Amino acid sequence: MAQPIALLSVYDKANLLELAKGLQSAGVKLLGSGGTAKKIREAGIQIEDVSDITKAPEMLGGRVKTLHPAVHGGILARDIASDSADLKAQNISPISIVVCNLYPFEETISKPNCTLADAVEEVDIGGVTLLRAAAKNHSRVSVLSDPADYDEFLSAWTKGSGDVGWGLRSRLALKAFEMTAKYDEAISGYFREQYASAELEADKLAGPVQRMALRYGANPHQKPAQAFVTEGKLPFKVLCGSPGYINLLDALNSYALVKELQEILDVPAAASFKHVSPAGAAVGLELNEIEKQVYGVDDLKEPLTPLASAYARARGADRMSSFGDFIALSAPCDLATAKIIAREVSDGIIAPGYSDEALDVLKKKKAGKYCVLEIDPTYAPPAIETKQVYGVHLRQNRNNAKINAELFENLVTQNKELPSEAATDLIVATLALKYTQSNSVAYAYRGAIIGIGAGQQSRIHCTRLAGGKADLWWLRHHPRVLELPFKKGVKRAEKANAIDLYVSGEVLEGGEKEGWEAHFLNAVEPLGEAEKKEWATKLTNVACSSDAFFPFPDNVHRARKSGVKYLAAPSGSVMDAECIKTADEHGMVFAHTSLRLFHH
Ligand code: 5GP
Repeated sequence: MAQPIALLSVYDKANLLELAKGLQSAGVKLLGSGGTAKKIREAGIQIEDVSDITKAPEMLGGRVKTLHPAVHGGILARDIASDSADLKAQNISPISIVVCNLYPFEETISKPNCTLADAVEEVDIGGVTLLRAAAKNHSRVSVLSDPADYDEFLSAWTKGSGDVGWGLRSRLALKAFEMTAKYDEAISGYFREQYASAELEADKLAGPVQRMALRYGANPHQKPAQAFVTEGKLPFKVLCGSPGYINLLDALNSYALVKELQEILDVPAAASFKHVSPAGAAVGLELNEIEKQVYGVDDLKEPLTPLASAYARARGADRMSSFGDFIALSAPCDLATAKIIAREVSDGIIAPGYSDEALDVLKKKKAGKYCVLEIDPTYAPPAIETKQVYGVHLRQNRNNAKINAELFENLVTQNKELPSEAATDLIVATLALKYTQSNSVAYAYRGAIIGIGAGQQSRIHCTRLAGGKADLWWLRHHPRVLELPFKKGVKRAEKANAIDLYVSGEVLEGGEKEGWEAHFLNAVEPLGEAEKKEWATKLTNVACSSDAFFPFPDNVHRARKSGVKYLAAPSGSVMDAECIKTADEHGMVFAHTSLRLFHH
């Protein structure tokens, strides 16, 4: 058998001499690139230069060292007759072992005075080619890309008399592939930062860019921060302001929600997000006069469009939580919607377009700093999504579950009457959960979320939280609330807070009490418990959906107290039968969906 050949070309020369010595003792012929061969030779170990087999000197100041058919033919040749004949014809010997690690690109670019030219020179070409070629042909070739593996390899080589086995070869090949992938990612990341950030300032208003520098990450001390795509351009452009990290989390989640709502229900939709969960989400059903009052749009001069109604409902579900929201619209923003937004405290908006008048209105908000994003409505996100947590990459298929009326066909209660309005509300509630931090439970009524419990560890806490919010929402419809004698000049947010204190029955003392009373023209009688109870009985036919099964029937009891008649949740609880029995007790309609919708 011909003497096996190892090709050595390493930047990091750790453990190199021990490996070379071991290979030589095992009868392996050594071949090295310039610096590697020199170091080994100086230690008294026999080694040939790569240039001896390529018959070409290293050139271009080291840019071309091992890039030659004599090297790559020797690595890539398979154990098949035609490849052996090709090698023989060119007088090339097969190479069995490749030892290579790369120029320290990341280390170089992390130096404060690194220039573009320094970085370019540090892009390893031949080394990456050696690693890929050897890893590709790992059915025959062993590739050592990490000095930490030399020992294990040497003992396997000696034990197996030159055959380290498929298991080790494949493990080493995977490591080499991962190493080149990481290396390429560092290179593209560096150049993205160099070139795409320059693009930002020039092109920000002209069109989408590939990368966007962000002021900071989730918190001000998390700098630098950026948003980017590895291919093509970001699916949105910035028309005004500059989005922050959490703005983008809100914008991308909320737009996905409204886009799906409109696709399924064929009505314009809106969402009001805070901390990456909806405070409200709705489709644009027409508002009656009381709803207009409750949602604070009764005095709007502009006639309400379906889109404006959708946002009025979304913002009105929980006005306190929506303070400083990020808004998503499923359709181009019109003047009526912009006029509602103009009066609210809000952080930004994403929509698939803006009428000129609407954009003029929005650009005046926050002294010209209101964040306005225009998303490409034809954008389709990749099917696979990856995120990194504590250095670990997590990858999954995007949640592409379709939420439509078919999901609610498995009615498990005696009452199986699910009117189309209720099916719409179940779709709204369930779709909202798809984009709400789990655990989550949502109540919906007349095409809008009226209470959502997000991010709780216990399901009953979600159900109570959402129910409590729905109760307050309903109390805000009480005639006594609608007639509250607010003084002129009380701001919208102050009104929202004062109403919330009133309907929640919070006991106020001292300065807080005085401050609250100062909003009104005359003394206001509190809402009595009996009045509240009596009012609660008037809310019926509410829909409620849960992102996972109900573990106990207490959830069903609690939902009913907030007027829930229509329930949807996946099956799978040991208490399913108990939950159905409880729903039957209350004459409810319960759909088992068999679709869990956790979102994190
Ligand atoms: P040496 O110290 O042996 O002169 O160089 C080793 C380094 O050169 C290794 O990091 C290896 O990845 C890299 N290398 C091997 N072949 C080539 C080539 O043809 N061109 C370039 N630019 N680098 C190479």
